[in-house]
Amino acid sequence: MSKYILAIDQGTTSSRALLFDREGTPISVGRQEFKQHFPADGWVEHDASEIWQTTLSCCHVAMSEAGAEANDIICIGITNQRETTIVWDRKTGEPISNAIVWQDRRTSDYCDSLREIGHSEMIQNKTGLLLDPYFSATKLRWILENVPDARTRAENGELAFGTVDSFLLWKLTDGKSHFTDATNASRTMLFNIAEQRWDSELLKMFDIPAAVLPEVKDCAADFGNSTADFFGAAIPITGMIGDQQSAAFGQGCFANGSAKSTYGTGCFLLLNTGEQIVKSSNKLLSTVAYRLANKTCYAIEGSIFMAGATIQWLRDELKLIATAEESEQLARETADDLKVYLVPAFTGLGAPYWDTNARGSIFGMTRDTGVKEIVTAGLMSVCYQTKDLVEAISADGASLNSLKVDGGMANNNFVTQKLADLLDCEVQRPTITETTALGAAYIAGLQAGVFSSLEEITQKWQLDEAFEPTKDQSWRDTQYSGWNAAVKKTRTQE
Ligand code: ADP
Repeated sequence: MSKYILAIDQGTTSSRALLFDREGTPISVGRQEFKQHFPADGWVEHDASEIWQTTLSCCHVAMSEAGAEANDIICIGITNQRETTIVWDRKTGEPISNAIVWQDRRTSDYCDSLREIGHSEMIQNKTGLLLDPYFSATKLRWILENVPDARTRAENGELAFGTVDSFLLWKLTDGKSHFTDATNASRTMLFNIAEQRWDSELLKMFDIPAAVLPEVKDCAADFGNSTADFFGAAIPITGMIGDQQSAAFGQGCFANGSAKSTYGTGCFLLLNTGEQIVKSSNKLLSTVAYRLANKTCYAIEGSIFMAGATIQWLRDELKLIATAEESEQLARETADDLKVYLVPAFTGLGAPYWDTNARGSIFGMTRDTGVKEIVTAGLMSVCYQTKDLVEAISADGASLNSLKVDGGMANNNFVTQKLADLLDCEVQRPTITETTALGAAYIAGLQAGVFSSLEEITQKWQLDEAFEPTKDQSWRDTQYSGWNAAVKKTRTQE
């Protein structure tokens, strides 16, 4: 009997592949970083061929580390950096330009022009998203407008568009499958999340020929087989899901009100809202959490640009600490009512502000402020930003019962405790923190019959440590009002 599920986790800075056993335990991993291209101010690109090559070689590493052959692998699940946009030639499979990465801001002016003529609300109503360069639609349009002959070739059906999931699928199946899943589709700004289909009004507005689009499937579905060339035999690809949704799936966030927050470079909080699309009045996104058996489960999402990256900055630029781990001990030596606030708006502020022009700042320093205080303020900024998201979620009428955390920074017990204190809810860290890859493995395994139900998956989740609130309301109010005052001074727009 085959033993493993291969989960591909194609991220923004590295590609990864993990083998999981039938229980969902990680067995081996391959990881490879790849080059980031910054061809102009605010532009971020990846070489899509490098995305593919690194992914493939990670799969080989994970397989050889576990001594696995194709026949040992039951199925493949794909999870990926979302929104990043690729257009390729249907005949050759070659990308016609570099991939435009989700971080890329080149279409800001175009987005502004659409906003000025009053399209934001229609876009939010249909897609659940904010009109912003972040999402794929304007990036795809940019490629069609700027790569020679692209528009004509797209209209003639010679070109294919996809986010990274679709592109990897195309490559793995040697051009036989051009599909995406509902979570990735929901990040393109071309997909109507209530009707679960590409939206003709949006396609017309962004001038996108329908001929370039992939077909949208459930997350657990038959996506085709990888060709024998790559792994020695064909392997069915049975799962596909965007990275943040995958982490929520891996954390077992299936119940309405369950939430996870991933603390890597940035932070992404997803709250399951069940069958209901919660429309945000506070600049959060409504998105597809997952779609199984043609039934869609929705989520509300908030993203913070700088979480762990703030600690990297303290380490690499200010050189206040030698390792990220050191920050925990320093914070423990700092007073609990610290009034120094670091607002890490280095690349603007994400949800719930979406202030592109804001820049980082530190407030409240006194003569006795030293390394400890600045480092602690950096850690606390991640907790305060999470609190901002949770406040916005509450203002939108949704609520959070507890918070499951993952990502590198979730290993910092000071941060997880302060999160519980500030949010006044239990914060739970699971034993398996590779939740993104795990989610893809679960999805693929569901379709392949390795797992029978969401209930079975829910039971697999294991607690490493839970953090209970230890502070009173007055502490929360005082500390948080100091943060709010600091953010107010940092913002460039209301
Ligand atoms: P990504 O997947 O975005 O590269 P990871 O989930 O690997 O990120 O997390 C790495 C980030 O977490 C880094 O930015 C690092 O600064 C931060 N980090 C890791 N360990 C700690 C820690 N113990 N305390 C604070 N920050 C940490």
